[in-house]
Amino acid sequence: MNVILEALLNKHFAGSDLPLPPDLLHELDVLLNDTTTMQQEIGKSNEETGTLEELYHILWETLNLLGAETSPVIGDGETMRSIVNATDLLNAECRNIVFNEQKTLRETVHLKTIQRVAKAGSWDVPATRDLSAVQNYWSAELFHLLGIDPSETKITYEQYIGLVHPDDRGFMLEEVNRAYMETGRYDTEYRIIPGGDLNNPRIVREIAEVIKDEHTGEPVSLIGVTMDITEIKLAERAIVDANTELRTLFNTMNEVFFSVNVDQDKLLQISPACTRLYGYAPEMFTKDPFLWFTVIVDEDKKKMHESNLLLSQGENSQVEYRIRHKNGQIKWLLTRMRPTLNVAGKLIRIDGISADVTERKEAELALANSELKLRTLLENSNDAIVIINEHLDYTFATESIGRIIGYATEEFVGTSMLNYIHEEDRGFIAHSLLSLNTKPEEPLPFEVRFRAKDGHWVWLEGVATNHSKEEVIKGYIVNFRDVTEEIRYRRELEDANDKLKKTNTELDRFVYSVSHDLRAPLASILGLIEFTASETDDGDIKQNLSMMEESIKKLDVFILDILDYSRNARLEVKRTPIDFSGLLIDIRNSLKFISTGNSNVEIRINIDEDGTFCSDRSRISIILNNLISNAVRYCDPAKPAPYVEVTVVARAGGALIGVKDNGIGIHKDYHQYIFNMFYRISEKSKGSGLGLYLVKETIEKLNGDIQLTSMPGVGTEFKIYLPNP
Ligand code: ADP
Repeated sequence: MNVILEALLNKHFAGSDLPLPPDLLHELDVLLNDTTTMQQEIGKSNEETGTLEELYHILWETLNLLGAETSPVIGDGETMRSIVNATDLLNAECRNIVFNEQKTLRETVHLKTIQRVAKAGSWDVPATRDLSAVQNYWSAELFHLLGIDPSETKITYEQYIGLVHPDDRGFMLEEVNRAYMETGRYDTEYRIIPGGDLNNPRIVREIAEVIKDEHTGEPVSLIGVTMDITEIKLAERAIVDANTELRTLFNTMNEVFFSVNVDQDKLLQISPACTRLYGYAPEMFTKDPFLWFTVIVDEDKKKMHESNLLLSQGENSQVEYRIRHKNGQIKWLLTRMRPTLNVAGKLIRIDGISADVTERKEAELALANSELKLRTLLENSNDAIVIINEHLDYTFATESIGRIIGYATEEFVGTSMLNYIHEEDRGFIAHSLLSLNTKPEEPLPFEVRFRAKDGHWVWLEGVATNHSKEEVIKGYIVNFRDVTEEIRYRRELEDANDKLKKTNTELDRFVYSVSHDLRAPLASILGLIEFTASETDDGDIKQNLSMMEESIKKLDVFILDILDYSRNARLEVKRTPIDFSGLLIDIRNSLKFISTGNSNVEIRINIDEDGTFCSDRSRISIILNNLISNAVRYCDPAKPAPYVEVTVVARAGGALIGVKDNGIGIHKDYHQYIFNMFYRISEKSKGSGLGLYLVKETIEKLNGDIQLTSMPGVGTEFKIYLPNP
């Protein structure tokens, strides 16, 4: 280049004594300066820069030289024209040269940038098998790719091979050979190890062509481009992996994927899961493009039509419908579809996915069913259920409140509970709800007066539970019912009961005092009978007096029974440790004085006690007295050895008492009556018919129990259980 310029300058100015016009010098200066500036911006590390600088230098020097040697001549017009012409020519040619230079430079820069961006290095090597051959040309990017310092200009073929991955060297060289021998070019991929680092191999694609001598046809050089495609390869691999994963998903997922070409009514693909979902293999669907529609339960086909309408408008659709599986089973499917429209807005393709939602659907239906049942139950129940929030406002109420308090739910919900509660009950309710907060797990029973819609008060009885921690409830659940009638009835009953108790107490007191007062005159009469009998020797009178005495004594026993009854009814139970041995000895002694005419009855006593049993001594005495005296009185005269056997086992847990005789016994027809008041089996009975009644009443008072076994002619046994309080 510089040579050309030099030649140009020489051509126009050398050997001439023409002066150089200063404008030319200036213009060349500007022109060259521009080129240099551009060069600087791009970078100076190439040969071209050297060339330009050199060019500039030579041009400048030449011009100066010429300028210095030529003295300015202001001569004839011909000379001036020659100078101007020569200058114009030089100027134009210089411009041309510089323009071409700039163009080449731009292209070089462009090429460099492209190589850098594409990670592609270009090269030109001599077509020789000599490993020590040096490359003709290596682009900067190739240096960069191979991790070699660009200042190393003389790279041998051997050095290059050293940077190919050892495993790939063989086939890479084969490719080169084949290009020389047969194909004239190659396009291959292999790994390089930039900087010789085996740990960081890069994958390159290399395209090369053999340049042959025009005349001999012998290979002269091999030129090519080497591109780093590591990232592309990785991306490709990732795509392949992702594709494989997708395929696996497609083949194994429970959902059925499908794509349909709507234009041709052609199924493009359907995943194998259709075999399980529908009972038909993919081929069946491909063969019969309407199979998917045929299997839809008739009532649900309409949904599909609606969905198709959406799809044809370019909107996604989601349908839940039933299909009939090949085996006859009905299944619920959820299908989501996405349409593809062509440029004319016509639906050409549908991609979709269908899932089996039978279980969910059935659960939903079951839930809806049970909800309906529950609602119906609630609405028809006599109970009402409401929810009260922390501010004591109603947030929910069942319709049944209408029947109980007359309000419709919508006018009730949102109002405050306190509006309706009787003012006397408000304190109690507020307090109770407070206690629910401290013991949320305990249900709170309540009874309140509540103002119904028509203004009258109703008694409500119910239970409140705290569910304020539960997100859905956030309050107290209260269920209640109308107990106004029950409460009125209960009140009446309580009143009547109170009255009855009062009358009973009065009656008891009356019976007691009358009985008590009757005994004194009887004692006087007995005294008088005794005195009169001692004053007379008349046998008849004596007998009459004796009968009178017996009757009076009987009457006294009767009065004593009544007194016992009255005491049992009136007096509180007094518990002390019971000494059965002492008690029974007393009873046996006292019976000796009872005129029964059966003094030959043996009284056997078996006692097993540890002194820990406690009860009411006088009441136990009444029980035993009556049972033992009955056993003696109703002994069987026909039996040679009449007896009554009393057995007692008394412990801290309670006492078991048995009174058994071998007397006349009681027929089973009478068993149910003998504990009744004044009941006697026969008129010949020796007592008043109060004894067993008194026994039963007394045992009841002590919370005990009595049982009877008896057979006429065999005997009678009473078994008693008394608890220790
Ligand atoms: P009473 O004063 O008549 O003895 P009780 O109430 O003591 O009244 O007994 C009711 C009836 O039960 C008696 O009239 C008697 O017929 C029958 N009775 C009670 N104890 C015995 C017994 N140990 N053996 C047979 N009969 C009995």
